[in-house]
Amino acid sequence: MQRSSDVLVIGAGVIGCAIAYELGRRGVSVVVIDDRKPGAGATQASAGMLAPYNEVEAEGPHLELTVRALDRFDRFVARVVEDSGVAVRYCRTGTLTLAFTGESQMHLERVGALARARGVQAELLEAADVAREEPAAASTARAGLVIPAHGYVAAHQLIEALVAAASRHGVSFVTGVRVQAIRQRGEIVTASAGTEILTAAHAIHAAGSWTGQLVVDGAVPAPVHPVRGQLLHLKAVGPNVRRVTWGDRCYLVPWDDGSLLVGATVEHAGFDEATTVGGMSDLLGGVASTLRSDWRATLVGARAGLRPGTPDDLPIIGPSAVAPRVWYATGHYRNGVLLAPITASFLADAMLGQRVDPLLESMRPGRFGRL
Ligand SMILES: Cc1cc2nc3c(=O)[nH]c(=O)nc-3n(C[C@H](O)[C@H](O)[C@H](O)COP(=O)(O)OP(=O)(O)OC[C@H]3O[C@@H](n4cnc5c(N)ncnc54)[C@H](O)[C@@H]3O)c2cc1C
Repeated sequence: MQRSSDVLVIGAGVIGCAIAYELGRRGVSVVVIDDRKPGAGATQASAGMLAPYNEVEAEGPHLELTVRALDRFDRFVARVVEDSGVAVRYCRTGTLTLAFTGESQMHLERVGALARARGVQAELLEAADVAREEPAAASTARAGLVIPAHGYVAAHQLIEALVAAASRHGVSFVTGVRVQAIRQRGEIVTASAGTEILTAAHAIHAAGSWTGQLVVDGAVPAPVHPVRGQLLHLKAVGPNVRRVTWGDRCYLVPWDDGSLLVGATVEHAGFDEATTVGGMSDLLGGVASTLRSDWRATLVGARAGLRPGTPDDLPIIGPSAVAPRVWYATGHYRNGVLLAPITASFLADAMLGQRVDPLLESMRPGRFGRL
């Protein structure tokens, strides 16, 4: 079977879906292809936190990208919800980061200074104030940092909304099909997947951790490696924690239905997407060291996903150095949900010849050679 479109997006994770939606609403004809259902890769495991200052510790392109990404989120979610008619849980209730050692207290002071230097409110708390701010926090916490601008979004609802909104703009989704090869010949890009041949004027390689397995003809494999993250889903018995809370060993994301997500392990386990007893045990230990011993919860479940890591921890966004009609949008590691809207609009602007944001220079595929 043969299909053609203006743009072919390979990978229906949060990155591929956000790009498809952005291009669709700009009037581009788009086909998205995935071997699973949308969001079934790393995205289904994500805690959905939107917390640039908790993720990046120094000035540079990564902080700039994540901060600008957060600035767009209100507008992005509002538009996706309106275009899709799908409700998306999205809260900007801030983060509380707890320090249990002198070293982590110094880290909090640095993070607070970094945020304030950018005009972002960041309040350092002493031990007594921590207990007032979060009654469930372990009494061993010696300091805290509140950044009210941070938040979270429900990643599975965001995917559902993106797919619905993109579909309303005419985007087609083809699932259950694995792309085996991508090549550019002249001005046409071809992707083959079993008996399907898909042609387009441009292709977007958004295959997450699997990007290196799908090598663009003439290019080297993308240096994207899987970093497994496991996450626990608990249900609080009694009051839940009040806002996204980070300890030294885990983070906690409370939902208003009493759910609490506890993340996340960082493991180099190849392409194995399974949860493990060791991972669960580490996360449960993290909860026990972050919250008071009389805080109670039941275990609802666990999940795991493969974060797409890169050698310099920056995503790879832009045209291939050897096949310029193939665009990479991958390697978003720990921040793919946060970075989805900005990646989509940067990529759409550049592909449609509107504007190449100067920040993209640090993310260009060619920094890794013949990519
Ligand atoms: C435990 C955990 C917690 C996280 N928490 C956060 C967080 O709080 N905030 C945040 O911003 N980010 C978080 N992340 C990171 C975030 O989830 C990822 O960065 C993001 O999901 C990556 O999206 P993606 O679309 O690039 O990849 P994926 O979601 O993995 O999607 C890639 C898709 O490509 C498909 N694919 C691959 N190869 C092929 C092929 N050859 N043919 C067809 N389809 C193919 C796969 O099936 C998959 O569906 C977390 C990740 C984990 C694991």
